[in-house]
Amino acid sequence: MYILDSSAFINEYHTDEPIASIPLVREELEDESAYRFDALEGSGMHMHIPEPETVERVERAADETGDLAELSQTDVRLIAAAFELDGRLVTDDYAMQNVSEKLSVAVEVIAQDGIDEQRDWRFQCQGCGREFDENHDRCPICGSNLSRKNPA
Ligand SMILES: [Zn+2]
Repeated sequence: MYILDSSAFINEYHTDEPIASIPLVREELEDESAYRFDALEGSGMHMHIPEPETVERVERAADETGDLAELSQTDVRLIAAAFELDGRLVTDDYAMQNVSEKLSVAVEVIAQDGIDEQRDWRFQCQGCGREFDENHDRCPICGSNLSRKNPA
């Protein structure tokens, strides 16, 4: 079971494992990421509400690691949900990773390599040689074809 935090929905995290989240995450999401949450809930994502004792246990652990001030109510409950479900927490938040480690909750860090790679592409006109950040059907200056150029 993978427990998804809000950044997982925002970054379109995908896994074939069964997934779960908590209702508070839905309240942090807007627009496309909120639709993604609803669609995943509709197709079987488990909604989990952790027990108050587990929430307290997470807060104590966060206090010990010095991360308590960094964590929201949502963050604490996500860690508690992952703990109760014996699942893997999906997050890119460092404080949440730290407290999870303290409680022996497995963490899956959201990889953002794909996004960076896309950002580096440039396109060069085969006619006049001008370079563009975005692809066009044809060069807006001279009308020749563009080709993708690998970052140096
Ligand atoms: Zn051109």
